[in-house]
Amino acid sequence: MNSMMTMEEKPYPDGDIRSLYPAELRALAESLGEKAFRGTQLFSWLHEKRVQTYDEMSNLPKSFREKLEERFPLRHLEVVRRQVSAVDGTVKYLFSLGDGNVIESVRMVYHHGVSVCVSSQVGCRMGCRFCASTVDGLVRSLTAAEMLEQVWAIDRLDGERVSHVVIMGSGEPLDNYDNVVRFIRLVTDGKGYGMSQRNITLSTCGLVPKIRALAEEDLSITLAISLHAPNDEKRRALMPVASRWTIEEILDACRYYFSRTGRRLTFEYALASGQNDSARDAEELASLLQGINGHVNLIPVNPVRESGFRRSGKKVTEAFQNKLEKYGIHVTIRREMGSDIDGACGQLRRRYMSEGDMPV
Ligand code: SAH
Repeated sequence: MNSMMTMEEKPYPDGDIRSLYPAELRALAESLGEKAFRGTQLFSWLHEKRVQTYDEMSNLPKSFREKLEERFPLRHLEVVRRQVSAVDGTVKYLFSLGDGNVIESVRMVYHHGVSVCVSSQVGCRMGCRFCASTVDGLVRSLTAAEMLEQVWAIDRLDGERVSHVVIMGSGEPLDNYDNVVRFIRLVTDGKGYGMSQRNITLSTCGLVPKIRALAEEDLSITLAISLHAPNDEKRRALMPVASRWTIEEILDACRYYFSRTGRRLTFEYALASGQNDSARDAEELASLLQGINGHVNLIPVNPVRESGFRRSGKKVTEAFQNKLEKYGIHVTIRREMGSDIDGACGQLRRRYMSEGDMPV
């Protein structure tokens, strides 16, 4: 069989060579008439050394490099805006993709290292009422390479290794399942960027069958569930996805995730004044989560122009926390980062899109 035919019959996942696993690069090298080990070298240039051009891959034959250049041109994310918070040094990036779409990524420094919040889609189709990323719907999913590039670009531009990734930028990661899993495997490959799987958190609004599938991937990442309400009725008012799966179905999938991975879950709960922050809500939430291996992360809701939600006050937030703790639920309150730079949840891209441009 003609080896080129094989390549065309089995198209690569998203057309970007940086989305390929080492074994796939070895097969690609062979299909281009090279020895398999050339694929291993290629992986190292792309993922470990992270050079920007084929020219720099000095131990690869020139003819191979030329073929690669022709078939898999390397396009890189471009920085459209870079805003640094005067409050805590958080950096918010607006990147443009090869097709002109823009995405945002955030770099945050914690005592445990540098964390990057990665977008998984341009826009989102989940429709959560409080979220800016979803206002104009889904444009497209990102490739694994486009997610990797957010980490690599920030590593390069800020000159420091990224130790943690949270997949909490724009998009619903489990609505882009294959590319996101590929991204996680690639960024944690010991011969590539080499991040620890334990330092990755994936946040989902709760696509139940995908949570179950993820449990079977044999990954040791943290799963965060965007719960935001203590019962289905309230959740349906905030999140359209709640009409598809009940909280009980989500929690069953979470128990399964814990049984397969041994990883404790995080339940995200954005407190919105008068919506989900009463003492009764806290009690309901506590009874819901009894016996589950996980903790609640309380997030003061970020006011988004389109949504009209207001954040709960300090007293209400503390009372909510105390109530949960009284029932034995472990609670953390998310520290707000980059509040002065549209730090939250798709707001930079929205401002950029609606104003065409904005002051640097
Ligand atoms: N689609 C995924 C991940 C992206 S959002 C998810 O739903 O989990 C990451 C987190 O930010 C989610 O918990 C989301 O509900 C929350 N979020 C979105 N908009 C917010 C806002 N305006 N204020 C506070 N949290 C928000």
